[in-house]
Amino acid sequence: MLWPKNMPELPEVETVVRTLRPQVVGKTVRSLWTSGLPLRMARKLDHAVLRENCVGATIRAVRRRGKYILVDFASGKGVLVHLGMTGRLTVALEGEERRKHTHVVWALPGQRELRFVDPRRFGWVQAASRLDDLPEILALGLDPLEELDAEKLGDLLAASRAPLKAFLLDQHRLAGLGNIYVCEALFRAHLHPRVQACRARRQAVALMQAIRETLEIGIANCGTSFRDFVDATGTPGKNVEALQVYGREGEACTVCGRPVRRLVDAGRSTFYCGYCQRR
Ligand SMILES: [Zn+2]
Repeated sequence: MLWPKNMPELPEVETVVRTLRPQVVGKTVRSLWTSGLPLRMARKLDHAVLRENCVGATIRAVRRRGKYILVDFASGKGVLVHLGMTGRLTVALEGEERRKHTHVVWALPGQRELRFVDPRRFGWVQAASRLDDLPEILALGLDPLEELDAEKLGDLLAASRAPLKAFLLDQHRLAGLGNIYVCEALFRAHLHPRVQACRARRQAVALMQAIRETLEIGIANCGTSFRDFVDATGTPGKNVEALQVYGREGEACTVCGRPVRRLVDAGRSTFYCGYCQRR
């Protein structure tokens, strides 16, 4: 079987953050290396700014906002990382061969290196004096696990005529959901992906619960790994087995037994059950 594309979403990013913390917090960056190749949107990394902000800085915290990883330094400055489609942020021993497509390496004490690897180069790494003031962070909507509840979701739904799936994917409304967890949450809530958001407002409680369960299961399983995703120790996640519809076209729906269907919108697949999620 050809596995579907699998971009890191909230559970994968949260998994990287959680596995990165014990390896890097309290460590001081000794030196920095970059490949010089452009990453997301053909933008080049600003090596000078990265070096100036990182070298000599002590890592105070690692946290997540939406699908972004924020590495905070004791100085108040920090580094923003987005994994794009195939990005990996892992800690390796200095002597270990660098994987092809390694783009940034932060040397840490104890012969360790924090490495950013990204074959497809849709990811991004940027240093900033105040991470929370970066436009991409300011533009993020509510975190579905930390800031959202059924009432707020109901208000957001009532104000939108977008199809439900597009509504949930919009990072300006909710930050962190992507194709996999949206498909799974809609299946759990018995909602059709193309129903108008405002028409689903009465199902806000069920949808909120479905989003939360889907994400929590994803985190508990350390993320979904079809092909590329690994945590900060290089270990793939185990959530593929927990997926009920995503990547399961033609297989029996776990609720009604009818075959799972697939829709394609703008090159993106939506998996759903035409019976359990009828409009
Ligand atoms: Zn079904």
